[in-house]
Amino acid sequence: MDEPDISEDFSPLNPKIVLGIAAHPDDLDYAAAGTMAKFAGTGAEIHYLIITDGSKGSDDLHISEADLIKMREDEQRAAVQILGGKGVTFLGYPDGELEVTMKLKKDIVRVIRTIKPDVVITLDPTLVYSVERGFINHPDHRAAGQAALDAIFPLARDHLTFPDLYAEGFEPHKTAIVLLSNFGAGNYFVDITDTFETKMAALKAHESQIPDVDGTRVWMETVARKNGELCDYELAESFMRINVRG
Ligand SMILES: [Zn+2]
Repeated sequence: MDEPDISEDFSPLNPKIVLGIAAHPDDLDYAAAGTMAKFAGTGAEIHYLIITDGSKGSDDLHISEADLIKMREDEQRAAVQILGGKGVTFLGYPDGELEVTMKLKKDIVRVIRTIKPDVVITLDPTLVYSVERGFINHPDHRAAGQAALDAIFPLARDHLTFPDLYAEGFEPHKTAIVLLSNFGAGNYFVDITDTFETKMAALKAHESQIPDVDGTRVWMETVARKNGELCDYELAESFMRINVRG
């Protein structure tokens, strides 16, 4: 992996339009709800794009897929509202089966060209597993992050890519900044000391996913403090930041 380029401008961001792109309802709130709330608080429009329907995320043997999909969409809408966001788009791909296809990339390009974000926050597709943290990254997370990056560059940028979209009025768009979350340390930190409680309220909205709110709070606070020690904030979210020049 390249060493972070210290000549880069990594000064704090003040975006106008932020698009979060992730696989499941709740991914973005674990990764970035503190950052989303902070950006919303300084006037940014916040949009979420959730690619799958979340239809596998339940231990309840009696719940139907249709009920779970509806519940998780409602939970995600509530969470976005709590952190001051504007709206959520659901693409409805089946949970657990996500593949990086041109169809998926085109669906993401359509949303990027509609929302026209200056900052996209998505999941780091290079994270396959972590021995230290003892987990295998969900394949949907990797596919979502990869498709999002491909959609940002070069597919959303070029009018000759997906000419049918251009003909329908979806103008090309360049996203200036990408923030990738791998739920660990990156090269860019956002101070979430003042928005940590909002992050927890947003996570709490995902009732079907978070049976142990207190345990989740301890986990989130531990991660945020650890990030904070690396950057002199009390509580922080961490990202790999790419200033896209192309
Ligand atoms: Zn997920």
